[in-house]
Amino acid sequence: MSIFHADKKFERFEDVTPKLLKQEKVKLLLCDLDNTLRLHSEKEPADELADWIEDCRSAGVMVVIISNNGRKKMMQKFCEPLQIPCVWWARKPMRTKLIEAMQDYNFKPSETIMLGDKWSTDVLAAKFAGVRAWKVDHRKKVV
Ligand SMILES: [Mg+2]
Repeated sequence: MSIFHADKKFERFEDVTPKLLKQEKVKLLLCDLDNTLRLHSEKEPADELADWIEDCRSAGVMVVIISNNGRKKMMQKFCEPLQIPCVWWARKPMRTKLIEAMQDYNFKPSETIMLGDKWSTDVLAAKFAGVRAWKVDHRKKVV
Protein backbone atom coordinates (compact mmCIF):
# COMPACT_ATOMS: atom_id res chain seq x y z
CA MET A 1 0.00 0.00 0.00
CA SER A 2 1.33 3.38 -0.97
CA ILE A 3 2.23 5.86 1.74
CA PHE A 4 -0.08 8.31 0.02
CA HIS A 5 -3.20 6.35 0.85
CA ALA A 6 -5.01 5.44 4.01
CA ASP A 7 -5.81 1.74 4.25
CA LYS A 8 -9.43 2.50 5.09
CA LYS A 9 -11.51 5.66 5.04
CA PHE A 10 -14.51 6.60 7.15
CA GLU A 11 -16.72 9.62 7.53
CA ARG A 12 -16.51 9.70 11.31
CA PHE A 13 -15.01 7.73 14.18
CA GLU A 14 -18.42 6.21 14.99
CA ASP A 15 -18.16 4.27 11.71
CA VAL A 16 -15.24 2.33 13.17
CA THR A 17 -17.39 -0.27 14.89
CA PRO A 18 -16.43 -2.95 17.43
CA LYS A 19 -17.51 -5.53 14.85
CA LEU A 20 -15.08 -4.13 12.28
CA LEU A 21 -12.28 -3.92 14.84
CA LYS A 22 -12.79 -7.59 15.65
CA GLN A 23 -12.92 -8.55 11.97
CA GLU A 24 -9.68 -6.68 11.36
CA LYS A 25 -8.04 -8.23 14.43
CA VAL A 26 -7.31 -4.85 15.99
CA LYS A 27 -6.07 -4.87 19.59
CA LEU A 28 -4.60 -1.39 19.87
CA LEU A 29 -6.28 1.67 18.44
CA LEU A 30 -4.05 4.74 18.39
CA CYS A 31 -6.24 7.80 17.86
CA ASP A 32 -5.65 11.36 16.93
CA LEU A 33 -7.77 13.73 19.03
CA ASP A 34 -8.45 17.08 17.37
CA ASN A 35 -10.93 16.92 14.49
CA THR A 36 -10.91 13.12 14.74
CA LEU A 37 -12.51 12.30 18.09
CA ARG A 38 -13.70 15.83 18.85
CA LEU A 39 -14.29 19.17 17.30
CA HIS A 40 -11.38 21.45 18.04
CA SER A 41 -13.51 23.59 20.35
CA GLU A 42 -14.85 20.78 22.56
CA LYS A 43 -13.64 20.99 26.16
CA GLU A 44 -15.20 17.79 27.45
CA PRO A 45 -15.76 14.41 25.80
CA ALA A 46 -19.11 14.17 24.05
CA ASP A 47 -21.42 11.32 25.05
CA GLU A 48 -20.96 9.63 21.67
CA LEU A 49 -17.20 9.59 22.22
CA ALA A 50 -17.48 8.14 25.73
CA ASP A 51 -19.88 5.48 24.41
CA TRP A 52 -17.60 4.63 21.51
CA ILE A 53 -14.55 4.26 23.79
CA GLU A 54 -16.59 1.96 26.02
CA ASP A 55 -17.68 -0.10 22.99
CA CYS A 56 -14.06 -0.44 21.86
CA ARG A 57 -13.05 -1.53 25.34
CA SER A 58 -15.84 -4.12 25.41
CA ALA A 59 -14.53 -5.46 22.10
CA GLY A 60 -11.14 -5.97 23.74
CA VAL A 61 -9.50 -3.02 22.02
CA MET A 62 -7.21 -0.64 23.89
CA VAL A 63 -7.52 3.00 22.85
CA VAL A 64 -4.60 5.42 23.26
CA ILE A 65 -4.72 9.07 22.21
CA ILE A 66 -1.69 10.17 20.23
CA SER A 67 -2.03 13.91 19.63
CA ASN A 68 0.20 16.64 18.33
CA ASN A 69 -1.62 19.05 20.61
CA GLY A 70 0.91 20.40 23.12
CA ARG A 71 -1.55 21.56 25.79
CA LYS A 72 -0.79 18.90 28.37
CA LYS A 73 -3.26 19.99 31.09
CA MET A 74 -6.15 20.36 28.67
CA MET A 75 -5.36 16.95 27.17
CA GLN A 76 -5.16 15.25 30.56
CA LYS A 77 -8.42 16.86 31.67
CA PHE A 78 -10.17 15.76 28.48
CA CYS A 79 -8.92 12.16 28.60
CA GLU A 80 -9.31 11.55 32.32
CA PRO A 81 -13.06 10.79 32.34
CA LEU A 82 -12.53 8.44 29.39
CA GLN A 83 -9.88 6.54 31.36
CA ILE A 84 -7.57 6.13 28.43
CA PRO A 85 -3.86 6.98 28.15
CA CYS A 86 -3.04 10.12 26.24
CA VAL A 87 0.15 11.27 24.60
CA TRP A 88 0.48 14.97 23.81
CA TRP A 89 3.06 16.73 21.63
CA ALA A 90 3.53 13.50 19.70
CA ARG A 91 5.14 15.26 16.74
CA LYS A 92 3.48 13.08 14.10
CA PRO A 93 4.44 12.25 11.37
CA MET A 94 7.36 11.14 13.49
CA ARG A 95 6.66 7.56 14.47
CA THR A 96 8.33 7.68 17.90
CA LYS A 97 5.19 7.88 20.07
CA LEU A 98 3.36 5.23 18.06
CA ILE A 99 6.26 2.82 18.52
CA GLU A 100 6.50 3.69 22.22
CA ALA A 101 2.79 3.00 22.75
CA MET A 102 3.09 -0.42 21.10
CA GLN A 103 6.11 -1.24 23.26
CA ASP A 104 4.57 0.14 26.47
CA TYR A 105 1.36 -1.86 26.11
CA ASN A 106 2.91 -4.84 24.37
CA PHE A 107 1.15 -4.89 21.00
CA LYS A 108 2.50 -5.77 17.59
CA PRO A 109 2.25 -3.45 14.56
CA SER A 110 0.04 -6.08 12.91
CA GLU A 111 -2.62 -5.67 15.62
CA THR A 112 -2.42 -1.86 15.71
CA ILE A 113 -4.27 0.89 13.84
CA MET A 114 -3.61 4.63 13.72
CA LEU A 115 -6.88 6.54 13.24
CA GLY A 116 -6.74 10.21 12.30
CA ASP A 117 -8.04 12.98 10.06
CA LYS A 118 -4.82 14.21 8.49
CA TRP A 119 -2.69 12.62 5.85
CA SER A 120 0.41 14.71 6.60
CA THR A 121 0.51 13.72 10.27
CA ASP A 122 -1.65 10.69 11.12
CA VAL A 123 -1.49 8.65 7.94
CA LEU A 124 2.22 9.25 7.45
CA ALA A 125 3.04 8.46 11.09
CA ALA A 126 1.16 5.17 10.69
CA LYS A 127 3.10 4.31 7.54
CA PHE A 128 6.44 5.15 9.20
CA ALA A 129 5.49 3.01 12.21
CA GLY A 130 4.44 0.08 10.03
CA VAL A 131 0.83 0.07 11.21
CA ARG A 132 -2.41 0.36 9.26
CA ALA A 133 -3.66 3.90 8.65
CA TRP A 134 -7.39 4.51 8.94
CA LYS A 135 -8.60 7.95 8.05
CA VAL A 136 -11.71 9.85 9.05
CA ASP A 137 -12.99 13.07 7.55
CA HIS A 138 -12.21 16.29 9.39
CA ARG A 139 -14.93 16.23 12.07
CA LYS A 140 -17.90 18.53 11.54
CA LYS A 141 -20.61 19.55 13.89
CA VAL A 142 -23.71 17.43 13.35
CA VAL A 143 -26.77 19.62 13.03
MG1 LIG B 1 -6.40 15.90 13.86
